[in-house]
Amino acid sequence: MEIQVDEPMAFSPRRDRLQVDGSLKSYEQNFKLSGVKKDIEKLYEAVPQLRNVFRIKDKIGEGTFSSVYLATAQLQVGPEEKIALKHLIPTSHPIRIAAELQCLTVAGGQDNVMGVKYCFRKNDHVVIAMPYLEHESFLDILNSLSFQEVREYMFNLFKALKRIHQFGIVHRDVKPSNFLYNRRLKKYALVDFGLAQGTHDTKIELLRFVQSEAQQESRSENKVHVISGNKMSLSGSAVPRELEQQPTTKTSVKRPYTHAQIQIKQGKDGKLMKQSKAVDVIYRKLATKKKAVSAKVMNSGVMKKTTSSCPVSLTCDCYATDKVCSICLSRRQQVAPRAGTPGFRAPEVLTKCPNQTTAIDMWSAGVIFISLLSGRYPFYKASDDLTALAQIMTIRGSRETIQAAKTFGKSILCSKEVPAQDLRKLCEKLRGIDANTPKLTSDIQGPASHDPTFSEKTDHKAARLLQTSHAQHSGHLYKGNRNGCWGLDAHTTNLEGWDMVPDEAYDLLDRLLDLNPASRITAEEALLHPFFKNMNL
Ligand code: ADP
Ligand code: MG
Repeated sequence: MEIQVDEPMAFSPRRDRLQVDGSLKSYEQNFKLSGVKKDIEKLYEAVPQLRNVFRIKDKIGEGTFSSVYLATAQLQVGPEEKIALKHLIPTSHPIRIAAELQCLTVAGGQDNVMGVKYCFRKNDHVVIAMPYLEHESFLDILNSLSFQEVREYMFNLFKALKRIHQFGIVHRDVKPSNFLYNRRLKKYALVDFGLAQGTHDTKIELLRFVQSEAQQESRSENKVHVISGNKMSLSGSAVPRELEQQPTTKTSVKRPYTHAQIQIKQGKDGKLMKQSKAVDVIYRKLATKKKAVSAKVMNSGVMKKTTSSCPVSLTCDCYATDKVCSICLSRRQQVAPRAGTPGFRAPEVLTKCPNQTTAIDMWSAGVIFISLLSGRYPFYKASDDLTALAQIMTIRGSRETIQAAKTFGKSILCSKEVPAQDLRKLCEKLRGIDANTPKLTSDIQGPASHDPTFSEKTDHKAARLLQTSHAQHSGHLYKGNRNGCWGLDAHTTNLEGWDMVPDEAYDLLDRLLDLNPASRITAEEALLHPFFKNMNL
């Protein structure tokens, strides 16, 4: 198969260099390696005390908010231990960092929730040291998991969610890359509390800082505990002194602060004071995009608009049309937490419902489950909230979605009625159990297909194929894309158990993807669901 790489010129390999190395692949590997080496060196320079304890071997994760490294260390007598070092971006908000640490220290370390060993800080660089769990890439194993493995995976995910929900932690970013899975050892770990929020009665003290603007005026009874020195063995509420003392210089929060940006200033009496600007930067960006989004959606045949819960009589002329008038554009937008990954966001998040609960994590678990049952990942792929909502409607039904939204005070308009789909039929069709479903040809499958350097041309070819295969569906949810969203390859699929998926599986899926957060199944209930009969807690 021919691989075409469309890259910006600045990153394109020089042809002569390519010839010397023999292949683009080896050039890229070398290039990556030297980049990683440089990053490791930079990390040692930024936090020199790491050198005394760890030998950093590789970079294993790089996201918007952190880089994660694999290191080894001789921490106790005995063999070397493998450690994951999470280096948070220096612009992370101090309270956000402290809250992430507190989630790990208070709720972590058991029931499949990642724990923490140490935390290091030098100036504005913070590194969290955690036990390393070698894990699979979800996309790589999706095709080969047996049905029993899927059962175990979901059971262990609910175990982790039950644990954090008991502590009043809403994770907000439940997705496969944040739930590490070691298939061989049958080990699991929920990671990444970087977007976590507290419930109203959260036991994680610092999460109260990252809560709603309603609390913005309250003085900091959530005292930030200070541990001085650069190496910290963490207790429940450790935060670096420097982070506490220099907050005014760090008001730019790159990691979204979900409800509101919080500025921390020194009060007159020298104590910490909290100020909230009630500004949801992310939301504002969305508001300015609103017109384009509406137009885009309308072009694809579905017209919809989400409004706040104001009565119809108070709306303007553009109500129920495909336009957004200047009155509407100038309305004060409702501020609600939106953090997370679009394809995993619950309807109440997508419609900016201000009262969000742990139920949003259960929806995300449902999206993982539908991926596992259908063999498609990512299942929903949307770049904006309204498209994500439209995609949910095509699976769960437009009338049902509108009905559920009413229960949390949102009204959704949809020009076209789409029926709810039978989850079993849908998953079986996508999985290829239905004999009428054409299989994908091998030239668009395999690990390379989700290489982000793949050309648009290749993607389009895949997309066309998938759209033809599923012409009876809306086509948007299942097509190939840059990150790969491929169906099952009959050669690699472990058919064990897949021919007899019990009704309980689809009942549980239905209860996870309950459009109404108030009736959605909880993690505790899910563990007791008949789908997990004979599984030990
Ligand atoms: P981010 O906030 O940047 O998403 P995460 O905490 O999710 O950071 O970590 C990013 C990636 O690093 C994870 O998807 C996982 O692959 C890897 N990772 C994180 N923690 C560990 C760990 N304790 N053991 C092994 N790998 C880890
Ligand atoms: Mg993550």
